Amino acid sequence: MKMVNVYNTRTRSKEEFVPIEGNNVRMYVCGPTVYDYPHIGNARSFAVFDTIRRYLEYKGYRVVYITNFTDIDDKMINRSKEDGIEVSELAAKFITEYLTIAKQLNLIPATINPRATEHMDDIIEMVELIIKNGYGYDVDGDVYFNVPSFETYGGLSRIPMDDLSSRARVEVDEKKKDPRDFILWKAEKPGEPSWESPWGKGRPGWHAECSVMGKHYLGFPFDIHGGGQDLIFPHHENEIAQSAAAYGIETPVKYWLHNGFLTIDSDKMSKSEKNFSTAREVLDNYDHQAVRLYLVTGQYRQPLDYNDKAMKQAIQSLERIKNAADTIRGRISILEKIGSRESDADRKLAEASKKAREDFEKEMDDDFNTPGALAEIFTLVREINTLTKDVGGAAVLREALAVMIELVGILGVNLADEAQTGEGAGQAAKALKGIVDFLLELREGARKSKDFAKADQIRDRLGELGIEIADTKDGPTWKMS
Ligand SMILES: [Zn+2]
Repeated sequence: MKMVNVYNTRTRSKEEFVPIEGNNVRMYVCGPTVYDYPHIGNARSFAVFDTIRRYLEYKGYRVVYITNFTDIDDKMINRSKEDGIEVSELAAKFITEYLTIAKQLNLIPATINPRATEHMDDIIEMVELIIKNGYGYDVDGDVYFNVPSFETYGGLSRIPMDDLSSRARVEVDEKKKDPRDFILWKAEKPGEPSWESPWGKGRPGWHAECSVMGKHYLGFPFDIHGGGQDLIFPHHENEIAQSAAAYGIETPVKYWLHNGFLTIDSDKMSKSEKNFSTAREVLDNYDHQAVRLYLVTGQYRQPLDYNDKAMKQAIQSLERIKNAADTIRGRISILEKIGSRESDADRKLAEASKKAREDFEKEMDDDFNTPGALAEIFTLVREINTLTKDVGGAAVLREALAVMIELVGILGVNLADEAQTGEGAGQAAKALKGIVDFLLELREGARKSKDFAKADQIRDRLGELGIEIADTKDGPTWKMS
């Protein structure tokens, strides 16, 4: 298996990706603050890391994928006041919105979507440890992280300490020992949600939650931490400082991956300039699969511009892919009726399918170069369009179709569903259910006779096929992931 190379922000270089523990990949991606409709730039981050996850799974890794909901912070509080609703109500509304977008963008559901408010005990414990270890201090119920006491601060963002001082002086806070210090715990203000803590009632600073959730669900160090480039400083820099200071570890994360900005009509998108488009607006106006495809048309670290032309191109690209699939399906049904001799085209198409897969992997192995990978898919599309009419063997056509479905699937485009809507789909679904149920019966039998290796093998093999088994108190259940 060819190695995947990833660009690690920490080392500013491409490195061979080697998971910390065997075949298991533990991955954390900073999720949305659920106070407003995510903008299309947020959607880029969702799609990028979903594609990375899909590719790692394709390469045979088992991925645990955690992405959080920030459901308490200044933005949440301000917005809930504006709207005259509880913070929890606001959170519920936009978590639902996020999950809808996730479905429309065909994101594989996260293994867990933890929320900040569910981890108050963990957060308080971490802040206590930071104080105990000499990196934090409290002033009238506010707790700060003392940046100068943490020697390697700035290691991720590579911002020199002096520059940090001049930046920090802009917002003066009398309580801080040093202008660079950042907040770990904020004392309660009247009318705001708060939690009991050793420093009195209050709530956590934003950076705290990602440290504790990473530790809670994945353990330190874990393999991949993802997020937008805007999170490198201060969010991720502070995460490293907190985790290292509290738990005495060298580094919480092996590979830091950051996606580039999304611009709109070449203007840097910012909410204050009011030139943003929400993911909702975009998804309401365009085919969802085309939006997903558009979001991965650029290499993830590069800036991506959102404009009409780019969306139109994505729509056309999707059409071309679908048309090629239809061309193959059409030819297969002809061959099923009349049959034909194999010809030179068979050999050429078989070769093109094989080469498409190899070249696609080459591109993706190079720091998930999705535009290169997409170009390889289009090389296959061209071969399909040229050769299919002369191909005489249905097996070669099915293989080409399967390769195309699999490769575009890694980019998050689902062509397989369309194939299942045709004649015989209901029958196929019925047969699948029967087969999976039968395998689960065999697995139960294996468990009863304590053959756990066999039971695990059945679960794992089904898992590889995208069939997830869950053991409930009423027996095992399954679903397609
Ligand atoms: Zn985060």
